[in-house]
Amino acid sequence: MRLLIVEDEKRLAVSLARGLTAEGYAVDVVHDGREGLFRASEGGYDLLILDIMLPGTNGYRICATLRAAGHDVPILMLTAKDGEYDEAEGLDTGADDYLTKPFSYVVLVARVKALLRRRSGAPSPVHVLGPLKVDTAARRVWVGQDEAALTTKEFAVLEQLVVRPGQIVSKAEILEHVWDFAYEGDPNIVEVYVSTLRRKLGADLIRTVRGAGYRLETGR
Ligand code: CA
Repeated sequence: MRLLIVEDEKRLAVSLARGLTAEGYAVDVVHDGREGLFRASEGGYDLLILDIMLPGTNGYRICATLRAAGHDVPILMLTAKDGEYDEAEGLDTGADDYLTKPFSYVVLVARVKALLRRRSGAPSPVHVLGPLKVDTAARRVWVGQDEAALTTKEFAVLEQLVVRPGQIVSKAEILEHVWDFAYEGDPNIVEVYVSTLRRKLGADLIRTVRGAGYRLETGR
């Protein structure tokens, strides 16, 4: 899952990004409204965290512009203080949720997870696929009765396959949703993670579809 934070308070933006990265999300950060609108317009994000008062253009306008262009990415708005944010106005421009600063980090993470869950259309965060059970909210994985210990990145790669069982997911899609735009390493890193997942979860679980990507075998 890939998130974009548009926030001009750099310390806040960086600490949010650090925390959400530790939760296993790929996180991009921009500090300017116009840059934020540009990046969000390119698509490819699963969720936006959007400040309201920004240099360049403000959060309301970014939100309204994205919605007018047909983007349905979930948007969580942040506001500096009571009164600055007009909830009705924010929701009018198409935001899905809002938080007033200072907010609890735990609350922010809970809201982000709830928005992403709603977006995936999956009412339950627990996916059962053959012998595999994956709880995408608690970030836990079991094979049969045994819980597997995965790193946050390993989990994030697995999650991309779990939410689309039986479908082919390309290496580029996994890379885009799990690594952030600062990643300039080898795209074959995805292969490394897939082989680790096979070792930890079972060799037959993830099928390579030559030239196309990977597919999670749902089992019968
Ligand atoms: Ca601001």
